[in-house]
Amino acid sequence: MAKTHHTEQPALVEGVPVSRLHGEACITCGAAGPPLVPAGHVYTEGRDGGRLGWAVVACPRHREAR
Ligand SMILES: [Zn+2]
Repeated sequence: MAKTHHTEQPALVEGVPVSRLHGEACITCGAAGPPLVPAGHVYTEGRDGGRLGWAVVACPRHREAR
């Protein structure tokens, strides 16, 4: 996990679009339509080595998957 490059974007969970981290779509499948329910938090590694917590949501099919 070499993270030596510099970027102005926050470090994200691998392969997860930022819209899902922002709670705009299901964290698992990306469904954006309601009803979306709270699905806890996911954490990403910040550029300074700290952790960023994101409150995410899930569609009814995936709310129990996490
Ligand atoms: Zn889903």
